[in-house]
Amino acid sequence: MTPSYKALVPFVSVDHMMQLIHHIGLEPMLRGLADYIEADFKRWELFDKSPRVASHSAEGVIELMPTSDGEVYGFKYVNGHPSNTAEGLQTVTAFGLLADVATGYPVLLSEMTILTALRTAATSAMVARHLAPKGADTMAMIGNGAQSEFQSLAMKAICDVNTVRLYDIDAQATAKCARNLAGHGLNVIPCATPEEAIQGAQILTTCTADKQYATILTDNMVGAGVHINAIGGDCPGKTELAPAILHRSDIFVEFPPQTRVEGEIQQLAPDHKITELWQVITGAAPGRTSSQQITLFDSVGFAIEDFSALRYLRDQLTETGLFYNLDLLADPDDPRDLFGMVQRAAP
Ligand code: NAD
Repeated sequence: MTPSYKALVPFVSVDHMMQLIHHIGLEPMLRGLADYIEADFKRWELFDKSPRVASHSAEGVIELMPTSDGEVYGFKYVNGHPSNTAEGLQTVTAFGLLADVATGYPVLLSEMTILTALRTAATSAMVARHLAPKGADTMAMIGNGAQSEFQSLAMKAICDVNTVRLYDIDAQATAKCARNLAGHGLNVIPCATPEEAIQGAQILTTCTADKQYATILTDNMVGAGVHINAIGGDCPGKTELAPAILHRSDIFVEFPPQTRVEGEIQQLAPDHKITELWQVITGAAPGRTSSQQITLFDSVGFAIEDFSALRYLRDQLTETGLFYNLDLLADPDDPRDLFGMVQRAAP
């Protein structure tokens, strides 16, 4: 039986996503995503917002991240399992959906493992564009796993970073990252220690995966004036920064009710002063105010960034045709005759 056209849902597979990146170009795509994310941060107040719904286990977490702007609804399914890589599996995998609020019908389903890496990197760089010190051209990239090349190239495409200094406890991860970044126009410097990696860097990115209160940066590693892009601490009991660093930093977050539970600031008092990023982006709150200030983006990843990424993706599909039509919704000619439709399908 042929499904009715109006019920077909465009589905962007992993293969389509990879083709799309090569069609648009990675850096233009990161810039496009950053623009969509920034535009949605500017209209932050009109979104439905709630902390993501997390189901924790000993091995990791599975999360649902919903939001809506009143016209379009979106959600992402995402997991975080730091021990997966030892089994040959990804730490983070994801897929997501957009739906029309007026009818409730899904309008896009997509892989989001790759799209999450892109949107996380685009968000980091968009935020760094607002908070990093003027003239920042060198980033320390600590944690050289799945996200690391995307983080590095977004900082190049959006913030004019020209040098990345890599460190990972696993030298093979650093070698992989350096190999992948070769030929992309960045000066790539593999380092043997985190202390070496931060030398001369104005942007410090931590992007490690470990389900514990880890100390990737100690207090004495963080000098005045740097911008910290803390990506990996994104779950209760999973952080990357020594608490003393947080006390010396001005801290910027996505959605406080989620970040208080999941971010670096879970280590602080619940009323510790933080600034919401959307307010910096709209000009309602100051961002960086001095060259000596330490700014910290306590990133956990918020539903609106995924919504923006899916919105960007949807806007590319007509031109590229990079999707399948998925027979996802039962849609009988007579809406009340669902049973009849099943019966007529008898072999
Ligand atoms: P990954 O497992 O592919 O890579 C993590 C890397 O960190 C590994 O290479 C590992 O060897 C390294 N590492 C672990 N402990 C370290 C230490 N003490 N010092 C240096 N390196 C260390 O994971 P990934 O997909 O790249 O994700 C990295 C982290 O980012 C995860 O914790 C993930 O949950 C988080 N994440 C956050 C967001 C967000 O929006 N904030 C989005 C995606 C992923």
